[in-house]
Amino acid sequence: MKTLKDFNFENKKAIIRVDFNVPLNDKFEVTDATRIEAAKSTIIKVLEDGGSCVLMSHLGRPKGKQNEFSLQHIVAKVKEIIGVNVKFVEDCIGDKAEQAVANLEKGEVLLLENLRFYEEEKKGDIAFAKKLSKLGDIYINDAFGTAHRAHASTTIIAQFFEENKCFGNLLAREIESIDKVLNNSEKPVLAILGGAKVSSKITVIENILDKVDHLIIGGGMSFTFIKAQGGTVGDSICEDDKMELALNILKQAKEKGVEVHIPVDVIAADDFSNTANTQILDINAIPEGWQGLDAGPKSRENFDVVVNKCKTILWNGPLGVFEMETFSGGTIALGHSIDKATKNGAFSLVGGGDSVAAVKQFGFAEKVSYVSTGGGAMLEMLEGKALPGIEAILK
Ligand code: AMP
Repeated sequence: MKTLKDFNFENKKAIIRVDFNVPLNDKFEVTDATRIEAAKSTIIKVLEDGGSCVLMSHLGRPKGKQNEFSLQHIVAKVKEIIGVNVKFVEDCIGDKAEQAVANLEKGEVLLLENLRFYEEEKKGDIAFAKKLSKLGDIYINDAFGTAHRAHASTTIIAQFFEENKCFGNLLAREIESIDKVLNNSEKPVLAILGGAKVSSKITVIENILDKVDHLIIGGGMSFTFIKAQGGTVGDSICEDDKMELALNILKQAKEKGVEVHIPVDVIAADDFSNTANTQILDINAIPEGWQGLDAGPKSRENFDVVVNKCKTILWNGPLGVFEMETFSGGTIALGHSIDKATKNGAFSLVGGGDSVAAVKQFGFAEKVSYVSTGGGAMLEMLEGKALPGIEAILK
């Protein structure tokens, strides 16, 4: 796996695919700069070697050239975070971009305009990718969030660099962290899968059954498993058409020697609302008119024991409707359990959409070993799929 360590960037222009798809407010100010901060170490390495950086990214979902999606809006923020002057060019290919790159001096950073102003980007157009490739000597992919897409800047461009391509620090760390969980893990290995639906996680579950010793199934997903085994789930979210599949997963787990842990009690509510009436109920006996919206106290205790037995922990998906304070306790308790296990030497990886939002919201981001930056990309890796953006560098 080629990384920044394999290159000296002195007098070289690195073209770097970053993920600067950051949220902006109505004044076009960056409201969360995590993704810019995440790219910093790669940019600094190139500059410290005596090279220069050409940064390319998408922002939002523009339809053609739309000023509201211009990367011009984030230039000041990038400058503030990287700590050097950042130039901007209002195109990402063609004469203007090529001229701006030609004028770029050692130690300088140039940000190109939004790649998705051209529909060729998402189409993975070869001619467009070739034009992008003219803007640097060495191609670095540091955008994990789009590594599962075969877009021009994330995948197709790599073929024009033969040996001169590598992973940036962020992408390399993502790959190493997932590898540490799936392939080079210290046992026992635990995967915690929560969230709303079984259907969106089936392939992940099937792939990881071969890799883990323990599996916690929590959140809305658990009710399909409970009902399939004869429990009464009341008005809880449940996918009746996935019950057979749930039983099959439990059977496979048994055959593979994976211990499955499902909540035994829930915080049930008489309405999907933060101010609903609540009561603690056995998860197998939820009456009509009530729905389970969070893991109950006994479940939290059980999960704490499992988490603290394990040396490698993967967490994807909340244990309850954490967006509402009344139903956030189970997810917070799990965060504390993982924090404790991590302090005692376990490797913990959190990734995939909502669990990242949850760990940030409740202050656990610094307490776990690694928080993945790519929701969809991370899920596809957990499903065992090869990501085109990664394969293109390895080729
Ligand atoms: P996912 O994107 O599949 O990880 O699902 C995350 C969503 O699942 C969050 O928005 C949670 O509010 C939701 N969720 C978790 N537990 C439950 C539950 N018991 N009932 C309904 N929704 C839930």
